[in-house]
Amino acid sequence: MPAESDLTQAVLTILDRLVAFDTVSRHSNLPLMAYVRGYLTEHGIEHTVLPSPDGAKANVFATIGPADQPGIILSGHTDVVPVDGQIWTYDPFKLTRVGSRVYGRGTSDMKGYVACMLAIAPVLAARNLRQPIHLALSYDEEIGCTGVPFLIDHIRDLGLPLEAALIGEPSSMGVVNGHKGSASFRTTVTGLSCHSSRPDIGVSAILHAMEIIGHLTAYAAKLAAEPDSVGVFDPPYTTLTINTMHGGTAQNAIPGDCRFEWDVRATRRGRVEEVRAAYQEYVDKVALPAMHARFPDASITTSKNYDAATMVPQPGCAAESLARALTGANSATSVPYCSEAGFFQAAGIPSVICGPGDIAQAHTADEFIEISQLTACMQVLHRLVDRVSA
Ligand SMILES: [Zn+2]
Repeated sequence: MPAESDLTQAVLTILDRLVAFDTVSRHSNLPLMAYVRGYLTEHGIEHTVLPSPDGAKANVFATIGPADQPGIILSGHTDVVPVDGQIWTYDPFKLTRVGSRVYGRGTSDMKGYVACMLAIAPVLAARNLRQPIHLALSYDEEIGCTGVPFLIDHIRDLGLPLEAALIGEPSSMGVVNGHKGSASFRTTVTGLSCHSSRPDIGVSAILHAMEIIGHLTAYAAKLAAEPDSVGVFDPPYTTLTINTMHGGTAQNAIPGDCRFEWDVRATRRGRVEEVRAAYQEYVDKVALPAMHARFPDASITTSKNYDAATMVPQPGCAAESLARALTGANSATSVPYCSEAGFFQAAGIPSVICGPGDIAQAHTADEFIEISQLTACMQVLHRLVDRVSA
């Protein structure tokens, strides 16, 4: 193994480049991916670029070693959350070293891990491997994991044998084996607008939206009364919350439109579909008929913003065993945040989260990572190299 300072320096050099690309999810990640591709090419590592449907972004997938053997996926997302409205001491898109830390957007979540993945790639490429390591880099994780499904489709199409996936979200290098799923919906209620002096001829979209919200809130209370994951998730039940609401156009008009967004955090797979079906039954049988009785053109439509899969704890699975062996961790925990791990797991790939940095830093102003976390991650990846070497 190279000296610790060399390892860490290689990571910091790469991280400096990665942070400088403004890959806030609303922007393209193609310039960052061009850098990644150039880096992989320079080290003779074959890779595939998987453009997003609109071509504005891309996933990149690379394989090092014999692809026909059971492989291990190292996975990271390349997008970051916005810095709008945050007050930063440092330039968020410039890596700034202060003492034992480096500051910059994405240092913890999760360009630090992506830098480690890239730093270990030439080490892997120089070895004779008996098992392959796959590098999976995605886009749009932060807006609901909308890029990674295409990456997983590609992996599935290749028919690769896979042992495990290690997702490097910040876990302070601890092993995380579970998180809730997260789905978000937008409901639009359309009634009949008119002057507020004539509520008898209008149909208020806001009032009907409030009735639907009342129903959803009661449903949420029912879910809370039936905890199904005590000791696994906090809180130990599926939650349902209403998080945005907009309606009406004038203070003296009956509102003809109202829309609201609601969020479901699911303790298990299939829960989101159950909640959605129960909601739809209420809309079809109660809410909509009540509006139609007064205005036949009234409507209630609901679309899905995103749906990120639950990561179900699978104690003792190949990914957990591997991560615990590599890190020396003697237990695994669950976390409140969502990740791409649920998608890998739903595709049948044993998965855990294990990455450098503290989740407490993610999405904050003056996001940083302790350099010792990057060093610890590189040590773990070096143990992985030894494990898969012939
Ligand atoms: Zn992340």
